[in-house]
Amino acid sequence: MRSRFYNLKIPTTGNETRRAEIVVEEGRIVTVDQPGTGDSRLNDDLVDLNHALVLPGVIDGHVHFDDPGFTHREDFATGTRAAAAGGVSCVVDMPCTSLPPVTSGANLHHKLGIISPKAHVDFMLWGGASANLLDEPDWRDKLAELAQEGVASIKVYMLSGMDTFRDLGRSQIRQVLQETERLGVPVGVHAEDRDLVHELTDWLQKNGCNGLLDYASSRPAEAEINAVNTMRTLCRETGARVHIVHVGAGRALDVIAEAKSDGLPMSGETCPHFLEFTAEDLVSLGSMVKTAPVLKSAVDRERLWEGVASGELDYVATDHAAGQWPEEKNTGNAWADYGGIPGVELMLPYLYSEGVRQKRITLERLVEITSSAPARFFGIDQRKGRIAPGFDADLVIFDKKAKWTVRAEELHNMNRYTPHEGQEFTGRVRSLYVRGERAFHRSRDGRESFSAAGTGQWVRRQSKVA
Ligand SMILES: [Zn+2]
Repeated sequence: MRSRFYNLKIPTTGNETRRAEIVVEEGRIVTVDQPGTGDSRLNDDLVDLNHALVLPGVIDGHVHFDDPGFTHREDFATGTRAAAAGGVSCVVDMPCTSLPPVTSGANLHHKLGIISPKAHVDFMLWGGASANLLDEPDWRDKLAELAQEGVASIKVYMLSGMDTFRDLGRSQIRQVLQETERLGVPVGVHAEDRDLVHELTDWLQKNGCNGLLDYASSRPAEAEINAVNTMRTLCRETGARVHIVHVGAGRALDVIAEAKSDGLPMSGETCPHFLEFTAEDLVSLGSMVKTAPVLKSAVDRERLWEGVASGELDYVATDHAAGQWPEEKNTGNAWADYGGIPGVELMLPYLYSEGVRQKRITLERLVEITSSAPARFFGIDQRKGRIAPGFDADLVIFDKKAKWTVRAEELHNMNRYTPHEGQEFTGRVRSLYVRGERAFHRSRDGRESFSAAGTGQWVRRQSKVA
């Protein structure tokens, strides 16, 4: 069965779009034609998109769907439904927030067995290298297994709050990078200076400083800057491909930009919460916006937007992490409150509304930071990240003029809270197709439908680090 999507526009350069028709067969894009010029066949299934903008499916490179192990926070069904409703056709799930963590081939297959039947969109898995793993004598073999299985990338923490996935010291990270460089897999780093944060935390707690702003001052911008500097040195020493996740500090971005201009294989991502909120919002919104790293200043925020626009930051990912609401997010103790914000469903409309419409980024750049660049980083750019013949038919049908108001209760993830509550966005996902099958649709009267659980597929990294 062939489908012909018509009455649509696709992005070209800058903010330009062009009218097109997209023919899809067996999950792949066959042709992208000018209207009326393609080889139309009588039995094509015609899909009228009513002048919608069509974008390549979003790849969210950083989600915590907590399955198995922490499914009171999220599970793969709720997480991927939220993804589908947000135009995200492929999520890349972190290895640290499931049990057992994805630190061996066996653990990876255990997780796949549990999450595959629940997935509504495609997914990749991060593998991980924790101090727990490095305690095992055969950790190098396990890392090699993960690479062999096609993990998207390897995650390490320079500062972790998790006993089941402990952080690594500098020499341990160097050893991991020496392995990943050989294996041809990139490493994603949670970059905060462990010693500095521990020292500040101890001092603050000893002195009875227990507010959310005290938590924030335990994780200053310097913690990020120091850690990214360390990673630059290790990147230079080992030649390994290094990616800094959730960059919040403008001067940490400066370090990444310098490393890149020195020709080092370094990259970075930031998250919508760092682009929208600042430390001042900790006062008004409380632990709702508690994250690690913590929100920074308005100056940092401007620098991040600049980096997103210029390419100094490679892509945007959500770090979707939902604590049990309200129990875990508001414990009465700011140090104990869960750090994390669910974001997978709102990233695309947020970046369109506040990025493209506010002229901070072009439509072309939106496609790059939400789809093409993560596809390249995760080694799947032969099949995802573009609307072009031969690529997976992962298509977001986007109503760019639709105005709507964010309501937490209308989200689809398990624990529904959002600091964007009440914010008005312009531009909304109408439907999402994953490999040609409709994974999500919102009709004009607001009725919503999803594909069956289990239609999302595991995607392996295809290519080694370039
Ligand atoms: Zn994360």
